[in-house]
Amino acid sequence: MSSYTINANRVNRRIEQLSRIGKISETGVCRLALSPEDREAVDLVRAWMEEAGMTARVDAFGNLIGRLKGRDPDAPALMLGSHIDTQPYAGRFDGIVGVIGALETVQTIAEKGWVPDVPVEVVSFCDEEGCRFNKGLFGVRGMLGKLEDGELERTDKNGVTRRQALIEFGGDPERFAEDTLPPGRVSAFLELHIEQGPVLESLGAPVGLVTGISGPLWWTVDLYGFAGHAGSVPMTMRRDALVGASKVVVGLQELAIGEAGAPTVGTVGSLRVFPDSRNIIPEHVQFTVDLRDIDLERRNRLEKRLRALLETVSREHGLRYEIREDTNSEPRYCAAPIMDAIRKSAREMGPGEVPELMSGPFHDSLAMSSYCDYGMIFVRCREGISHNPKEYASPEDIAEGTELLYRTALRLCGLSGKTEG
Ligand SMILES: [Zn+2]
Repeated sequence: MSSYTINANRVNRRIEQLSRIGKISETGVCRLALSPEDREAVDLVRAWMEEAGMTARVDAFGNLIGRLKGRDPDAPALMLGSHIDTQPYAGRFDGIVGVIGALETVQTIAEKGWVPDVPVEVVSFCDEEGCRFNKGLFGVRGMLGKLEDGELERTDKNGVTRRQALIEFGGDPERFAEDTLPPGRVSAFLELHIEQGPVLESLGAPVGLVTGISGPLWWTVDLYGFAGHAGSVPMTMRRDALVGASKVVVGLQELAIGEAGAPTVGTVGSLRVFPDSRNIIPEHVQFTVDLRDIDLERRNRLEKRLRALLETVSREHGLRYEIREDTNSEPRYCAAPIMDAIRKSAREMGPGEVPELMSGPFHDSLAMSSYCDYGMIFVRCREGISHNPKEYASPEDIAEGTELLYRTALRLCGLSGKTEG
């Protein structure tokens, strides 16, 4: 490990400490958004923010925000951060590395006694993952005034509404307006994140520069057929919703794989069958569609073909279908000046250029990209495994990513002269 300005031990110790909250199995974490575990983790990070010299608060949307004063206290802030909520069967690093890395960046600046030109904020956004209420990026969209109608009425698997969960967590739907960011309050957003893919590992590189985030299209699809006795209804007379759904699942896979050389990906990750009995023909199947691409035109083309497939399959099997669009995000490119700051900072740290790559998964950065310039740094993760307890990034790679984040942040908050010393 080369010598770092940031405190690599502190970074990795904190990641380990956070992983104990909601721990499952040996290395896994289940810390669903707005759960008691989530709140415990937020309180711990909040204490660390205060220890680092920041003032910290949880806003109406459940976002944890720490702030280090700048020489000009009213100047647009540099914002750093990510999320600490997790999927139900997750690892220790997704999102967490970005929050702890951001915290370390500010703590290092504060410990040196430096005052940045502009305020520096560290944010842990509420409910990035979106698995509990089936819609992600809640906190960041809230902060940007981009929540949609009915979002607070969405329920989790136990029938708890987001409104209830948010209030219990300490958020406050009555105060949404006061915690919405007015234009110009933040000048740039920087996010450190594990890659969640195999590209950096295949290049033998500990960190990478992200050039853009591909846009996800999320659907919930309902296919309706007709139930009947599995022993008596002849095959030719069936309206089997699961057979129809299966053809769509396979069709989506074929559509995405058909784009040779493109980073296009399509997934059906959740499927519910009604009445879910071995001797009843499935009457209703609800499933999700996740389609992503960095090229919006190509994604739109595939969406059309997927709609046509649903139409054909439904006709063939006597089904009726409904599509609910849950998310439709455009691909977003990182800001050139920030990418440049990352490149320069990487050059200070060692020879060779930092590799550049796209992000397939979306991140809080995707929402921030509509508000201000943004940049992202990826940390290599083993075998590209994520959303899995086996997710792993080495302490050395995390330190490398945090140092790169720190040096880039110095450039963006008026402390760039300090990097050589
Ligand atoms: Zn994440």
